[in-house]
Amino acid sequence: MSSGRAALAVGGGAVDIAAASGGRFSSDVQDIYGVWGEFCDWARGFAGPADLDVRPGNVGCPVPRPPQVFAVGLNYRAHAVESGLPIPEIPVVFTKFPAAVTGPYDRVVLPTGPVDFEAEVVAVLGTRAENVAARDAWSHVAGLTVGQDLSQRAVQWAGDAPQQFSLGKSFAGFAPIGPVVVTPDEFDNPDDVEIACSLNGEQMQKSRTSDLVFSIPELIAYISAIVPMMPGDLLFTGTPSGVGFSRDPKIVLQPGDELTTSIDGVGSMITTFAARAAGATGSPT
Ligand code: ZN
Repeated sequence: MSSGRAALAVGGGAVDIAAASGGRFSSDVQDIYGVWGEFCDWARGFAGPADLDVRPGNVGCPVPRPPQVFAVGLNYRAHAVESGLPIPEIPVVFTKFPAAVTGPYDRVVLPTGPVDFEAEVVAVLGTRAENVAARDAWSHVAGLTVGQDLSQRAVQWAGDAPQQFSLGKSFAGFAPIGPVVVTPDEFDNPDDVEIACSLNGEQMQKSRTSDLVFSIPELIAYISAIVPMMPGDLLFTGTPSGVGFSRDPKIVLQPGDELTTSIDGVGSMITTFAARAAGATGSPT
């Protein structure tokens, strides 16, 4: 996604998909997931040179309007332990509302209350998945991208169980993703990719998806047995240990902070944070 138009990464740069395909594919990247198989067939045969500027500031959200955003809690053993919670026997699934999605280099305005980071590998669905077996699940994935499951912890844990995970994790800008979506075949092993994040240059989290309690195929099998997953949906797969709220003293995101989230083979996303405007309502707790 470059300058608001869908782009395909080629040879260190990128090409404008709508122009390079002679209008066969949309300039709106969200539309591409609706024709993912056809698009991949075309992209595999495309040999043109890169002609787009892909400097970070020029790259937008690769999945700007997902129909659904699934997220999974406590999906790394060490994170369940640091949270003082048992390792789940079934996936702990909630939603981040799609309006929280934003781009990979965007500035997020902090609401009042404690806001925490959660580096996550995000799977992007490429074809409808309904009652999909785990062994077939990767064929429904367009690719992987970097994500942050930003979380306002007071809202998340407000009230008695069940808590407000979906609201506490859906403030504006709380689902940054990007900078690109990388197809599963580009990884040596798509079930073993490294995820890390650093805050103002200091490493906070680092793990591999081979440590997931429930793998990406297992998550898709579990969720798609209940609710159809649609092309262009996002699946946040859980965060490793090292989140700010599990530290002593706790770390809470501050205006001016720079959060860098990286996946080997995908790249890095840089999220910055700003104070809310004076007089803005902020959050309810
Ligand atoms: Zn999370």
